[in-house]
Amino acid sequence: MNLLEVNNLSRRYGDFIAVDDISFSLRAGELLALIGPNGAGKTTTFNMIGGQLPVTHGSILLAGQSIANLPARQIWKKGVGRTFQIAATFSSFTVLQNIQNALLAYRRRTYHIWQSADRLYRQQASTLLEQVGMLAQADRPCSELAYGDIKRVELAMALASEPRLLLMDEPTAGMAPRERQDLMTLTRDIAQARNTAVLFTEHSTDVVFGFADRILVLARGQLIAQGTPREIRDDPNVRQVYFGTGLNPQHDASGPSLSGAGTRTDTADGVRP
Ligand code: ATP
Repeated sequence: MNLLEVNNLSRRYGDFIAVDDISFSLRAGELLALIGPNGAGKTTTFNMIGGQLPVTHGSILLAGQSIANLPARQIWKKGVGRTFQIAATFSSFTVLQNIQNALLAYRRRTYHIWQSADRLYRQQASTLLEQVGMLAQADRPCSELAYGDIKRVELAMALASEPRLLLMDEPTAGMAPRERQDLMTLTRDIAQARNTAVLFTEHSTDVVFGFADRILVLARGQLIAQGTPREIRDDPNVRQVYFGTGLNPQHDASGPSLSGAGTRTDTADGVRP
């Protein structure tokens, strides 16, 4: 059975259709990239799955159970975790404390006054930090970390809720090519080890084509293509939307961006700014 089934999903803002009747599925352990020019509807799709936005029409099933229009916290509790584009760590807390905090938030454990929060979930937090390669930095405040390390801490925080599905909104935004590769290698290894499904948006072609098992392409709210990286690269519709913007089969490690497509006015189909 698919872990996630999205059927005929739509979202309107007044008369404007931001997401238009899209359907796709995702298997446990799979990495699925959601790409598209600026304004294509990626964030809107994410927010409907995560419960931050109501669905106008359609269904979202997690392991066969409907999660559409449930409160975000309930969706999170059912196993949909999320990392955000903007760092979500407490900078004055240590790395370990941030993970302990995430574990406390998920397990909502009440603790007695004589029991220091610092002692709770130490072992579990350390295990998560080990998995993301950050155990050696457990006692450093997050304010001192390099950007790539903060993203690792955020990944560990998201894993604290033991998600079956992890939504990652531009996980490598602002990262150098090497850091991007490292974070995505880690994400892929963790997804496989835990059998976690990952749905991610991304603008860097090196990440999308190097790590996604399958790719969904949105343009103006519609799903214009879905398939393996090779199928997407060879798809004439996709080439038209990204005409001249670096969707190149021979993509190089510097990772041309997919975001520029939406800002062009000279694309073959006039993708709007
Ligand atoms: P980006 O890559 O720039 O983040 P995106 O693919 O995530 O873009 P969305 O943020 O989902 O796109 O937006 C899809 C469309 O819906 C855009 O045209 C946007 O202007 C519009 N939109 C988003 N939020 C609202 C809102 N609250 N009210 C009206 N229109 C909105």
